[in-house]
Amino acid sequence: MNTQISFGGKAVSEKNDAIDVQNINTQLFIDGKFIAAKNGGTIDVLNPANGELITKIAAAEAEDVDLAVKAAQKAFPVWAETPAAERGRLLLKLADLIEENLEELAQLESLDTGHPIRDSRRLDVPRTAACFRYFGGMADKIEGSVIPVEQGFLNYVLREPIGVVGQIVPWNFPLMFTSWKLGPALAAGNVVVMKPSEITPLSTLKIAELIKQAGFPDGVVNIVPGYGQTAGQRLADHPDIGKISFTGSTQTGRNIVNASSGNLKRVQLELGGKGANIVFEDADIDAAVNGAAWAIFHNQGQACIAGSRLVLHEKIADQFLQKFIALAESIRLGNPLDADTEMGPLTSQAHRDKVLSYAKIAVEQGGKILTGGVAPDDESLKNGFYVLPTVVEAKATDRVAQEEVFGPFVTVLRFKDDAEALEIANSTEYGLGSGLWTNNLQRAHRFAKKIKAGMCWINSYKRVNPGSPFGGVGKSGYGREMGFEAIHDYTEVKSVWVNVDAQIPPHFQRGES
Ligand code: NAD
Repeated sequence: MNTQISFGGKAVSEKNDAIDVQNINTQLFIDGKFIAAKNGGTIDVLNPANGELITKIAAAEAEDVDLAVKAAQKAFPVWAETPAAERGRLLLKLADLIEENLEELAQLESLDTGHPIRDSRRLDVPRTAACFRYFGGMADKIEGSVIPVEQGFLNYVLREPIGVVGQIVPWNFPLMFTSWKLGPALAAGNVVVMKPSEITPLSTLKIAELIKQAGFPDGVVNIVPGYGQTAGQRLADHPDIGKISFTGSTQTGRNIVNASSGNLKRVQLELGGKGANIVFEDADIDAAVNGAAWAIFHNQGQACIAGSRLVLHEKIADQFLQKFIALAESIRLGNPLDADTEMGPLTSQAHRDKVLSYAKIAVEQGGKILTGGVAPDDESLKNGFYVLPTVVEAKATDRVAQEEVFGPFVTVLRFKDDAEALEIANSTEYGLGSGLWTNNLQRAHRFAKKIKAGMCWINSYKRVNPGSPFGGVGKSGYGREMGFEAIHDYTEVKSVWVNVDAQIPPHFQRGES
């Protein structure tokens, strides 16, 4: 599961049955039933590898979201009082079903998002199952505490579920993010209304089927694919939703905070990033080259934690770039469903156009394109939303070094000494992923402490594990997914005071009674 992909390495050849698009689930999942949207609206879901229609799915609007929230409210008392071990058992069962359906889920995810199938099989689906399993195991370990207060009192702290939780998922890792959000929310006893991205809803709708098969009570999980402006907006402003968990762009995160203010719902935001991946002069260059390629080219660079700024010590920069560019140029672009493909298309045409526009922006500001910056000219890829692996050299203040491009697009920046490396690393408004390549132990820990980021990887990049907190600082958002942090974020804390044998002198003396 944690295999570091070796770009340019030997590809595995695995069986690749076509999925039957007729069997793809396309309806809303509300109160345990698959139903059409009230107004009958649909959304076209396109295959990013060729721009063709895969299927049309139901488009939830505000009234569908309201229905889902009602179903969730009805299910809440039952779910919250279900023994924690039983909630955990259902999550573990769901993890098993995900593994049993690995091939179908992997193919759906690749078809819908453009993830290379070898990544969907080895990473997305196993990580999704692992995340549900982690939180399944945690459900009956969510403990309160007893506080040593003054004599005569027992003070204990309960962690209680919040109630109905709204979850808004983006298009870059739809399957995996479903588990990151549902896992802790359900383990802690909450009920959920989840909106997948309108661009990539298919694997989440398959998860809805597996949730039903696992035996979760009706209404505990409701899935309402729809557009952000309608369904997403309604989740954010709904008066009966107690918390919103959102992953996506910083601007949408801001909109959600504003919309959530009506009932002061809790908000957890996992937003953009501009990860600095710093290579020092003493680093193992070959390991850093491979790790830096993984950091930016995995999932076509569509990752909030991508190492999209490659910060190189000037002494090793030329040697590093020679190897890095050769590796970038050797990456096999192709049909995501082909087991040999190392990089697929970007997930939507609009996004591909945005990524390509940054090549122009880089040059306008004096940057230099070292490779890529265009779509491939291969005839077989011409209808898909492909971009060649792109390496650009620029200044730390340029837009390509400050703004999230969210594609296979890395900006190279050079530094002279540690102070300059740190200044560059901390020079954006984001603070999510970061990486260091060095064999100097003291420098590694010094940087890990000083770098402005929610996560720092030393001599690796982009490691994730369900037990390790994930999230950012600054414009990368707040709150954490995964681990105990996530569970705590899905609970309300109640402090209970019991007078066991305290003698409290009356505050208001009124003479003898
Ligand atoms: P987005 O933030 O608009 O969409 C993410 C999710 O939010 C989708 O489910 C969408 O339907 C929903 N949404 C959109 N507007 C909403 C609103 N007003 N209220 C509630 N929900 C709303 O992201 P995008 O436009 O698809 O991508 C734009 C940029 O965002 C990307 O280029 C990238 O920089 C960034 N992004 C980051 C992540 C991440 O993992 N942090 C994921 C996707 C996109």
